[in-house]
Amino acid sequence: MPHQPRIIAGVEVTPLCDAVGPMGETIRRPLAEMFPGAALREEPWILHFHCYLLRDPAGRLTLVDTGIGPADSPASSWAPVPGTLTAELAAAGVAPADVDTVILTHLHSDHASGAVADGRPLFENARHVLQQAEFDVAQGAMLDRILTPIKGQLHVVDGQAEVSPGVHVHLAAGHTPGHQIARVGELAITGDLVLHLAQLSDPSVRYLYDDDQDQAAATRAEVLDALRAEHAVLATAHFSDPFVQL
Ligand SMILES: [Zn+2]
Ligand SMILES: [Zn+2]
Repeated sequence: MPHQPRIIAGVEVTPLCDAVGPMGETIRRPLAEMFPGAALREEPWILHFHCYLLRDPAGRLTLVDTGIGPADSPASSWAPVPGTLTAELAAAGVAPADVDTVILTHLHSDHASGAVADGRPLFENARHVLQQAEFDVAQGAMLDRILTPIKGQLHVVDGQAEVSPGVHVHLAAGHTPGHQIARVGELAITGDLVLHLAQLSDPSVRYLYDDDQDQAAATRAEVLDALRAEHAVLATAHFSDPFVQL
């Protein structure tokens, strides 16, 4: 079931819970290795996989991230596939063809795989917003099986851009070279800027699977500082609570 929606800056924001589960054995590590130096109690790390649906007052629909995808998706080696994004959308009264804009925070397989079903774009009428720096380094299954099928619907941006009235994206690199966050009003949908609550209290806590751990930590500190100063609401991909009031 979707988590409870909120109205932020006149926009209805519905967290869509695509999946819940631990990482698969192929990439699972003890928390002490995933988040070195965080002094976390060792326990199973159960991730939620959240996408966010934005419905503005004019009825325009923006989807931020597309989840882990179907049973045979590029995420199937490690994520709890299949994702339930289409059922979550249906519960919110939305068919994939209704979505006007898809924002892909980055091209990791648990964020972008749901953009394609049976080799075709699932959101057939949507522009798909991606940072140039992410596009430039795409490779492997994410390039062949996700980016190539949606190529005709890509809207590649460089840095900051307004992608739908009132909805902005900002480059927040480090987790991946072209990782971006989305903003609407005081809401910040942060992709993988923060993976674990420990990084909210200490942004310098590294994450094993950040592409560039130093850059990611610097970006995390800078972005979280700015968001705290404006008492923003965070919407994270992997926390169990979809919203965090800063
Ligand atoms: Zn959830
Ligand atoms: Zn990621």
